Amino acid sequence: MWPYLPELIERPVPRYTSYPPATAFRGDVGVDDQQRALNAVAAGTPLSLYLHIPYCQQICWYCGCNTGAAGRTQRLTAYLAALEAEISLVAKLLGGRGKLRRIAFGGGSPNALAPIDFVRIVDRLVTIFGAGATPDISVEIDPRAFTREWAMTLSIAQVTRVSFGVQSFDPDIQAAIGRIQPVDMIDTCMASLRARGITAVNFDLMYGLPFQTIEKLDATLDEVVRMRPSRIALFGYAHVPQMFPRQRRIDVSALPNAEQRFAQAAHGYDRLVAEGYVPIGFDHFALPGDPLAMAASKGQVRRNFQGFTEDQSDVLIGLGASAISLFPGAIIQNEKNPGTYRDCISDGRLAGARGVRLALEDQRRGVLIEQLLCQLKARVDSDLVDPQLEDMLTHFVSLGLVERAGDVLSITDQGRPYARNVAAAFDRHAAGQKIPFRVGKLS
Ligand code: SF4
Repeated sequence: MWPYLPELIERPVPRYTSYPPATAFRGDVGVDDQQRALNAVAAGTPLSLYLHIPYCQQICWYCGCNTGAAGRTQRLTAYLAALEAEISLVAKLLGGRGKLRRIAFGGGSPNALAPIDFVRIVDRLVTIFGAGATPDISVEIDPRAFTREWAMTLSIAQVTRVSFGVQSFDPDIQAAIGRIQPVDMIDTCMASLRARGITAVNFDLMYGLPFQTIEKLDATLDEVVRMRPSRIALFGYAHVPQMFPRQRRIDVSALPNAEQRFAQAAHGYDRLVAEGYVPIGFDHFALPGDPLAMAASKGQVRRNFQGFTEDQSDVLIGLGASAISLFPGAIIQNEKNPGTYRDCISDGRLAGARGVRLALEDQRRGVLIEQLLCQLKARVDSDLVDPQLEDMLTHFVSLGLVERAGDVLSITDQGRPYARNVAAAFDRHAAGQKIPFRVGKLS
């Protein structure tokens, strides 16, 4: 049973999909850093690619992603042309160095694209960066826009993993968040993928939605465990209409309060663990045979912009508007606005617009924070612990959230939902920040 600690739960902390987090990015880091970092990639370096498609066929009211309505075909065509030009620019700078391990498509909804365009991009990436390797390919899919043609397309493109945005199967909740997708629709999607040999499927679920109760969450989980996706993420909805005006359509009076949200997260955790899923952190779950669960058993789970991953690449190149690249010495984000992004690329330059150069101390703290979130334990060098941090750690120990043995700090079972609070104690950029711990959801 997790303790409910309002002073920690209600305190916004970053999700730490990078360290320093995106709130520490600055505008004086950009294209020059991007070029230097790409030039510095050594031959044979394992490489992962992330492609952002900032369009969806239908926009959900709760969504906090960088996406807009797909609308006219010309908009998508122009975006794809820029994406292909960016791929060529990056390939030129890499000059054949780097070994492609993974390609991830996210958004938005990659299936807002025409299937033929999707196949063409995958083919281009594998030809340019693949050097004969067969990369893992994952794609976020909006089930409402999933067709038989898309099932065939994913199979032809040798996609290895698909993520479906499910959120909740409750019809009242679906109506309240502007996303109608009956259980049958997801059953059909699953059957169609499995028939084509794609068995690695992720579900994204949410708690803290309007009208959601533990009973409604449980009814959704009944269906989810029957369908048996290989991975599940159970995210909390954060209502921040001042940042995402589309959320104004959500009835704020129907949202569960902080204590109810916490109870839903705790119930979801207990239920999924009881159903045989391996917990990763406090809100991700994987079946025992899944590569993420196997990485967890070996202490090899990593964290990047896509969340928890078994990907061990130290270089992640983001392509497309708002995509973030991760290099050993810098984190760089492309222009967020798709129009501005297209303008940069059509001028023949990269689109890096903000980011952060990683000082040695940031790198050390980044490793420590990643280990705390992924392995729930980390070795803490004494020079990182000042008197204020010592007080915070003592407080966490007194609450039963962490244990200390020599220089090893471990997060206890009770401390799982507070892992980000513990991580934030080591964040030297965190003072005074106000960040929702989860905003909206992907596809
Ligand atoms: S939740 Fe997914 S499908 Fe809905 S608008 Fe956001 S990115 Fe698009």
